[in-house]
Amino acid sequence: MLKPIEIVLLPESLMHRWIEDCRSLLPNEACGVVCGRVAETQVWVDDFVFVRNAAPDKSTSFRFDPADWVRVWYTVQHRHPIIGIFHTHPHGDPTPSDADRLGLTAWGTQWIVALDKQKSRIAVYRPDPESGWQTLRLQTI
Ligand SMILES: [Zn+2]
Repeated sequence: MLKPIEIVLLPESLMHRWIEDCRSLLPNEACGVVCGRVAETQVWVDDFVFVRNAAPDKSTSFRFDPADWVRVWYTVQHRHPIIGIFHTHPHGDPTPSDADRLGLTAWGTQWIVALDKQKSRIAVYRPDPESGWQTLRLQTI
């Protein structure tokens, strides 16, 4: 039985780079994978890597480009374990949409980078088949 995750630790410099890199892809949504380590009840974030967004309307949705997803998996997985998936919300709200709740696999951690002119935010969730999306406590370090 896995212990529940109590806290997710994200280096502040990485958070700023993540937000800026996602912002550079506006007005489109961006998506990709999050790398790091899970130790006991803590998750440590090491890096993020974009996967090309192949959605028909990239400004309102995202879909991993299959070939790019495979490329990222093979280039990243041996250096840093992939611990989750992220996508952006270009309009500032980090709440999972209905499409997020229905469409995303209940695997690992799910990250939403909510972009806003004043204050962009990152939120992290753990999808649970029984209780839905559980918000995890995120702390910058
Ligand atoms: Zn979403």
